[in-house]
Amino acid sequence: MHATHLECSECDYRAALDHLATLCPECHGPLVVRYDLAAVRASVDRDALSSREATMWRYREVLPLPDPQGAVTLGEGGTPLLPTCRLAHELGLERLSIKDEGQNPTGSFKARGMSAAVSMAKHLGARAIAAPSAGNAGGAMAAYGARAGLAVHVAMPQDVPIVNRIEAEVCGAEVTLIDGNIADCGKWIAERAEERGWFQLSTLKEPYRVEGKKTMGYELAEQLGWSLPDVILYPTGGGTGLVGMAKAFDELRELGWIAPDAKQPRFVAVQARGCAPIVNAFHAGDLKATPIEKPFTCASGLRVPGAVGDRWMLRVLRGSEGTAVAVSDDQLMEATRRIGRTEGIFAAPEAGALVAALETLIADEWVQPDEHVVLFCTGAGMKYIECF
Ligand SMILES: *Cc1c(COP(=O)(O)O)cnc(C)c1O
Repeated sequence: MHATHLECSECDYRAALDHLATLCPECHGPLVVRYDLAAVRASVDRDALSSREATMWRYREVLPLPDPQGAVTLGEGGTPLLPTCRLAHELGLERLSIKDEGQNPTGSFKARGMSAAVSMAKHLGARAIAAPSAGNAGGAMAAYGARAGLAVHVAMPQDVPIVNRIEAEVCGAEVTLIDGNIADCGKWIAERAEERGWFQLSTLKEPYRVEGKKTMGYELAEQLGWSLPDVILYPTGGGTGLVGMAKAFDELRELGWIAPDAKQPRFVAVQARGCAPIVNAFHAGDLKATPIEKPFTCASGLRVPGAVGDRWMLRVLRGSEGTAVAVSDDQLMEATRRIGRTEGIFAAPEAGALVAALETLIADEWVQPDEHVVLFCTGAGMKYIECF
């Protein structure tokens, strides 16, 4: 067990790891797990990791669960990093890879976050868990909650993709459909959580989902022979994967698993025009984002009008010399078909958004033809049948 304590991402607050933690009680910022990385460095041989199980739990020393035997797992992580050939050629890039997170249990990378968060919730004594979800988080929470034997409550907007609602129900969750967006669903859950004894697993309102998602960064580095790409495009909703990967790369440098001077990849946050709070804030030079009143996009993972981790995300984007791009729903749907046509991956529309954004970045010469670009295909297209 190498996790040492929790720390606020925004102020000096620190806390022990012995309770079901939520936001910083002092400034309401997200809490972050810190580790004794020197101890990990001394006890783990990086090159021996490859003989471990091909799930995210192979990085157990940098995950918060004290006893990995207690992990609530469905085999999440270990997804392929696929080199593209035809898509790269069409776009004029020498090296374009897709990390296919649609191959995770429950068909999206939400599995990683929920595996970590549900494991910790169970370990710390939660009996019932709840969260709002615009789509995949609800299905993943239901699946991992069932696996852990916890009661699960999900609040979803009425226009949630039908597969997400069905998978949550099939996995035994109680689902409430709300006439509103994910922010309204979040309010609905928060108003009832205390009275009903639900521990809230909402994005970044507890510190462990981001630990699960950071394993995408560990895995990417390992798959690249312990090096990093030049540019990472990430479809951004609540932003856990973005901040999680930045955290992973910082930890990897400190661990000495990648070169101490390995350059941070330039992170690109991609959003839909109908819901682009982070893109707006980034280009306005703001330190935090203004919530969107009426968010719309068929890419439900991007339908997050206001994120708890907005400041953290904006720091990551700026600190990496990255950028933020918004694309229209027409563009992202067309690009989703293009991924299918050129690479045989039936991807979630969130991944299509990345290809549409990448075209713009190439046209603007923000991305050079010889740079290695990685797209995070965060979900499977099969979960979005009504979009196609
Ligand atoms: C949730 C989700 C996103 C956004 O992820 P965040 O880490 O919350 O920004 C992107 N794509 C898909 C398919 C999702 O389910």
